[in-house]
Amino acid sequence: MDLGIAGKRALVCAGSKGLGFGCAEALARAGVALVLNARNAAPLEEAAARLRRHGVEVQTVAADITDPDGQARVLAAAGGVDILVTNAGGPPPGMWSDWDRSDFQKALDANMLTPIALMTALLPGMIDRGWGRVVNITSKSVRAPIAQLGLSNAARSGLTGYVAGTARQVAPHGVTVNNILPGTHATARSDALDQGRAARDGVDIDEARRRGEAAIPTLSYGDPADFGAVCAFLCSQQARFIVGQNILVDGGETNLTM
Ligand code: NAP
Repeated sequence: MDLGIAGKRALVCAGSKGLGFGCAEALARAGVALVLNARNAAPLEEAAARLRRHGVEVQTVAADITDPDGQARVLAAAGGVDILVTNAGGPPPGMWSDWDRSDFQKALDANMLTPIALMTALLPGMIDRGWGRVVNITSKSVRAPIAQLGLSNAARSGLTGYVAGTARQVAPHGVTVNNILPGTHATARSDALDQGRAARDGVDIDEARRRGEAAIPTLSYGDPADFGAVCAFLCSQQARFIVGQNILVDGGETNLTM
């Protein structure tokens, strides 16, 4: 399917690996030039080299996207991008009693205030040009809580509330904002969470993963490439009527009728 976005420019944050890379690659396949961000320069350059094989320009900015200076450097490179994909690392797991104000501030900065700051900076240009797409990578935890990810549940729910209103304010200008809610995908993040579960349950990591996969109707973790394809579709011309939605991509794991 021709997504109709060849020649557009996208900023993909936290995109050297995992779900962010999946989104970047799907956009590159659709002919979108990229500004790609992550903190560590070496894996970022490796990722950019892989993406350039799709024949698109890829500019890299090694920076912590949750830090205001990092955001400023990324935004300077992004200029007037047509597409924004927000992403950052997820907060650590724990118990409700583990976290104090500074833990919540970090989680809110990374998973709520950073995407809001990026949208605040980039939406005006999209509105002026009469076309734009924003996709925020959040989590299935906004539809059904993951108890040990209380920091993530809290911060991402705040972002979801912000997007619900903002998406309706910018839609008249040809700009859509939507969230994709990943379930468990095979990435470094799921490995780290499996490692924690393995230690807690007294099993090895392979068994922890087997148990995790058995809990998903598709009996497997998601593939970041498939996740990226959903992101690219939300950025397509065809998706112009999808506004302010929260799309679960979780293999049916979240047990909901709607
Ligand atoms: P991942 O495989 O660990 O990849 C994270 C990517 O983000 C890497 O490229 C990393 O590169 C970059 N990154 C992390 N923190 C950053 C920061 N502060 N600034 C810039 N770049 C940063 O993670 P993932 O599985 O793709 O997860 C992406 C997001 O989806 C996370 O928020 C995660 O909590 C959420 N999520 C994931 C799953 C899952 O099953 N995978 C499920 C639900 C939600 P550097 O380390 O070099 O910066």
